Amino acid sequence: MTEPAPASFATDPAIERVLLTEEQLRRRIEELGAQLTEDYVGRAPLLVCVLRGAYVFLTDLARSIDLPVEIDFIAVSSYGATTRTSGVVRLVKDLEVDLTDRDVILVEDIVDTGLTLRYLRRSLEARGSASLEVCALLARESADLEGLGVRYVGFTIPNDFVVGYGLDAGERYRNLRYLAVYDPDADEVG
Ligand code: 5GP
Repeated sequence: MTEPAPASFATDPAIERVLLTEEQLRRRIEELGAQLTEDYVGRAPLLVCVLRGAYVFLTDLARSIDLPVEIDFIAVSSYGATTRTSGVVRLVKDLEVDLTDRDVILVEDIVDTGLTLRYLRRSLEARGSASLEVCALLARESADLEGLGVRYVGFTIPNDFVVGYGLDAGERYRNLRYLAVYDPDADEVG
């Protein structure tokens, strides 16, 4: 039988340490928003949020951009309930907006192996957009950002599995206000 979840994130032994505080996230996302505002001035970019991990980032990023942005959502799944990739990416929910002649910014939570991004690019590049850029909150130090064509990155992080600020472990921790390193061995629930 699984244990009940700890009453508070503060006492949760699976939350090993804080990697990025609320304040660090807020500041960097404001910078990204200012950069996008400058780069897309005179245009109305379409922010494509990759569900579910990027949903918190998307809401803060969109409000940091001083342009008439539009928003749509796409959902893919590459991880099961565990912290290891299955190596297979599946489209779970497609976009509703037509991409023809749009300036598309793909909003991702984390670029790890790049498998998800490669799949998304293949799927979106055939849809006639005027441009397609990627804005990821996080990227692994090991990720080939140039090869993957990732133009905007919030933070480069080491190989630890992270949760919070939209990112999950078995669907938990998405509502954590900061980004934390997760320790699966100390998880009393998962
Ligand atoms: P990739 O396809 O680049 O290997 O992995 C990208 C996806 O894997 C991300 O969108 C995210 O859903 C998941 N992922 C990779 N690393 C982590 C991590 O440290 N924490 C969480 N919660 N998800 C991760």
